Amino acid sequence: MFHAPTHLSSPTGTVHLVGAGPGDAELLTLKARRLISEADAIVYDYLVSPEVLAFARPEAERVFVGKKGGGFCCPQREIEDILLRLAREGNHVVRLKGGDPFVFGRGGEEAEALAEAGISFEVVPGITSALGAAAYAGVPLTHRAHASAVVFLTGHEDPAKPDTSIHWEDYGRLRATLCIYMGMKNLETITRRLQAGGLPASTPALVVQSATTGEHRQLLSTVANVALDSEHEGMGAPAMVVIGEVAALADKLAWFGPARQSLEAGIALAS
Ligand code: SAH
Repeated sequence: MFHAPTHLSSPTGTVHLVGAGPGDAELLTLKARRLISEADAIVYDYLVSPEVLAFARPEAERVFVGKKGGGFCCPQREIEDILLRLAREGNHVVRLKGGDPFVFGRGGEEAEALAEAGISFEVVPGITSALGAAAYAGVPLTHRAHASAVVFLTGHEDPAKPDTSIHWEDYGRLRATLCIYMGMKNLETITRRLQAGGLPASTPALVVQSATTGEHRQLLSTVANVALDSEHEGMGAPAMVVIGEVAALADKLAWFGPARQSLEAGIALAS
């Protein structure tokens, strides 16, 4: 019997760019969970927790395209080629990303590549880590008494990007809650520049590491001291830095198991 080659017999598949949330598998959307459990292939990176991946079918192809520390083992172009190939082979592909795919997740670049190649795609939002970290750490990002605006920033700008570096001094004047992704490496510079822009040295600053997971740790300090305190306490990526008056509420509102333990163990350094 004649069997047509797969690429001729199967129509082109679809790629779902899916947010996996910040870590706790229960923070997945129902749609994300369904798509993961139906997928033929899952392309994922290091921030996706094993509990989330466990929803995939045993026979689903799993393609790991990232490594710990945020450095990609696969150049972005290669990831896009993998998505295009898997879709052209007729697979239902889930491109699984930590948090939300369109918040510092390069989901935009991947969607552009799919659109240009004429491959159908859908985007499934996820709980971005700023929201997950804040909720689990006990920090209301807005609060009628303290903050009317929230800003999501990256502390790790692509050094290749010309003329787009963040003017941290400007954000020091905003009086908004600042949520800094990928900020640990440059925390000293960032906090110095925020203060140079007028942010008072005593402004509360919270670092939340591995938020919402069993390894969740948080440290409350001030904008003047947070870089040094983090270093002393060995705080590292993946971590969210939340700066603003609301961060101090973590002292009162931290409710998540591991967060409470770290407070009680004195890891949280109230300023
Ligand atoms: N798309 C993701 C962000 C990817 S950039 C999202 O929407 O969350 C990677 C950065 O996200 C990390 O360096 C860290 O700053 C943050 N991050 C991701 N998961 C985190 C977690 N569980 N706890 C704290 N920060 C996290």
